[in-house]
Formats: sequence, structure tokens, C-alpha cells
Amino acid sequence: GVRPVGVRLVILGAGESGVGAAILAQKQGFDVFVSDFGVIKEAYQLELESYHIPFESAQHTEELILNADEVVKSPGIPDKAPIIKKLKEKGISIISEIEFAGRYTDAKMICITGSNGKTTTTLLTYHILKNAGLNVGLGGNIGKSFAKQVALESFEYYVLEISSFMLDNMYAFKAHLAVLLNITPDHLDRYDYQMANYVVSKFKITQNLTAQDHFIYCDDDIEIASFLASADVKAQHHPFSIEHETINGAWLQQNNLTIQLTNSDQFDMSIQDLALQGKHNVYNSMASGITAKVLEIRNETIRESMGNYKNIEHRLEHVANISGISFINDSKATNVNSTWYALESINTDVILIMGGVDKGNDYSMLTDLVRQKVKAIICLGKDNKAIHDAFEDEVEVIVNTFSASEAVIIAYHLAKKGSTVLLSPACASFDLFKSYEDRGNQFKAAVKEL
Ligand code: ADP
Repeated sequence: GVRPVGVRLVILGAGESGVGAAILAQKQGFDVFVSDFGVIKEAYQLELESYHIPFESAQHTEELILNADEVVKSPGIPDKAPIIKKLKEKGISIISEIEFAGRYTDAKMICITGSNGKTTTTLLTYHILKNAGLNVGLGGNIGKSFAKQVALESFEYYVLEISSFMLDNMYAFKAHLAVLLNITPDHLDRYDYQMANYVVSKFKITQNLTAQDHFIYCDDDIEIASFLASADVKAQHHPFSIEHETINGAWLQQNNLTIQLTNSDQFDMSIQDLALQGKHNVYNSMASGITAKVLEIRNETIRESMGNYKNIEHRLEHVANISGISFINDSKATNVNSTWYALESINTDVILIMGGVDKGNDYSMLTDLVRQKVKAIICLGKDNKAIHDAFEDEVEVIVNTFSASEAVIIAYHLAKKGSTVLLSPACASFDLFKSYEDRGNQFKAAVKEL
């Protein structure tokens, strides 16, 4: 195609996605400039320098930014940021890294979104495709930036984890296989506290699909079902359910995960043999399994891969068993629904450590499970009034713990033999920790200190 010489592309945010987009843009011949309002990590500064890409750290020079022909925005920058408002006033196109990089590859795109389970399902799907010998890249919200891979590699397939923030700035991009795992309240602070806005954003995963493409979705999810009742998604539909049989999709037959797509042989696997346990992971495995079947991967390869997959840290991760008390790190549970699934999957008494930065949470969906299983709640965070108010009538709620080790020591004293201490916060971590990883690591270190 025509090289975009002289077209001014400004990249806002110099993290993994922004730096990747900058490298791709430079290779494509754009006039690139990178600007980050925060301090750019040294490794990224060096990387930009090595490609001779001009950038600024810890400032936004408005004359340069507002002079752009197009802007690639990192997903972490909210629409409310002053610079974004100004760009919008000027009518300058703002796109995500995925939208940008999608213009420069013909690879088949497997795009996975949902409120919970994205990373798990993305990695499981990637694992199956790799085992099947496909030439596949992994990107999106995870690992190396998609744009960087488009610039430097030549994959035939990509498995991409797509967040709603990325979707918000995607317009012409299209998936070949779009996976929608679930839609439950999360990040509502970025959607004017309107669930409907968030649902619309998640459904953008289906934009531009054609009759040759595939839409894989959870048929048990009420938000998805009600949106689909009035929406027209042009693609082959592959529902999955653990409540009922489906057509051209996946369901449970006794304890067998069953996939039957039209024009394909049936796939069966006992859920006991799945590497990932828990009801939520049955859903995730169904989504990955359907994807693999659509790509005509052999049943044996799918079975083997779903049986030997090893999940990454901080997701219902078993840490240790001390004096008959089991410690589980589910630090990645940053919203209420993921905490629901964590509690659902545990069959002992639970001492629950939760709290942190509340994104407008409604805790009422946890009440039944808390009543059944939880003996005490230990709040870990600066302001846990909402948690205290939601559960004080159900169980003992201990507020005012400000470190993982303090919370772990209290939990250990409250726990009886045979019970479980679960860190599953339902909240973001930024009040006390650098990230959910940091929170999980501090929890694990505190457990090992006991
Ligand atoms: P995401 O990338 O969407 O945040 P992860 O795979 O990292 O998802 O999992 C985040 C949290 O949600 C973990 O606590 C995990 O145990 C839980 N979880 C995983 N899959 C699901 C699902 N399908 N539904 C609800 N919760 C889930």
C-alpha cells in the first residue's frame, strides 16, 4: 500500500501497547510521536530510542498532540483525561493499539473478551493451538504487544485478550472468531455507572463479523442473552452452557464437557480431567474447546491440552497447607463476580480476605455464599465501609488491616483445622499495593512466614 509519509500519528501512553504501536507505525512510515503523562519506564525509553522514535516522558505537549492526524491511545487512559477531551473537541480520530495493528495483518484473529476469565481462556486457547502446531501469536492485554508482533513476526493466527477499554476504541477491526465469556458489573466507574453502556462496549467484540465468522458465547449469561434477543450478530453462533443442551455449541452431559458443531465429530471430555477446576473454568474450557473445534483441531489434541494446561499465578492458586488450613491466593479477583466463583468452588469453611479499591461494587450477590461458607471477613484496604455494611449482619467483619501479613496472621488465628483462608478481594489493589500481582505475592510471602 501507500506509505503514510508525513501522516502524523501520536501515541498516548508508552507502556507495552504504546511502544509496540510506535514501532509498527515507524516501520510503516508514519511521522510518529509518543507522549506519556507519567514517567516512561527506562526499558521502554531505551526501546523507543533504539528505533529513533521521538517521545516525551512525564508531560503532554499539547501543540504536538493536538496537531496529530490520528491518535493511538493506551487503554489505561480514561476518556475523562483532559487531553482526550481536547482531542475529541478537535475531532481527531482516537483508536486503540489493536485497531491500529489490525490494519497491517491478514492473520486470523481469535478475540476473547468478558468481565472475567479472559486471561485464563486466552492462555488455554493459545496452549491448544500451539500444541496443534499452528503458527500462532498471543497478545492483547497480555504479554508482548500485538502491534509489536505485527511489526516483527509473521503469525498466521493470533489469540488476543481484549478488554472493554480496548474495544471502546475499535471501529474497523474485525475478529474471525469472537469469544464473549460473560458480562457482569466491572469498571462501571468508566461507563457512567451504566451497565447498558458496558454491555454495548463488550458486544463490540462482534462488530464487523460476517456470515463466515464465528461468535462463541455463554448462553447462561443473562446480559448476553437479553442483548442477543434484540441484536443481529451476523456470524455462525456457538453457544455454550452448563444448564442446557445447545445447538452448534457446547454443554454438559452428566459430567462430560460435550461439543457438537454442525459438520464436525463430537468432542467429549470428563470435567474431572480438565486441568482447570471449578464451574467458571468449565465455561472457560468450553469456550477454548469450541474455538479449537472451529479450527478443526483433533479431539485428542484438545483433550490432551485441556488436561495438561497449567494456569498462571493469582487465580485460585493453592499456596500452602499449614496445620490443616489451606491458603488460596485469588488476588486477580478484582470484581464481585470472580469472588463469587471463588467462594462457589470451595467446599470448606472460609476465612475471606477481601477489599481494596471498590469500583462501585454491589456485594449483595455474595450474601448467600457468605452465609453458607464464610466464618469471618478480613478487610484489606484503606476504605472498606461498603464491605462492612454489606456483611456485618452475616459474619464477623474485621476492618482496618493495612498489610497482607497483618491480614494473614489474623486469618490464621481465626481459621480452624480443615478450613480455607481465601484472598479473593473483589476490588482493585491500588490503595495498598502496586498491582494485583504485588498483592498476591505479598499474601504468599506472608503465608510462608507463618
Ligand atoms: P480476566 O483476564 O478477565 O481478569 P482471569 O482469567 O485473569 O480473567 O481471572 C480473573 C478472576 O476471575 C480470577 O479470580 C478467576 O478465578 C475468576 N474467573 C476466571 N474465569 C471466570 C469466569 N468464567 N467467570 C467468573 N470468574 C472467573
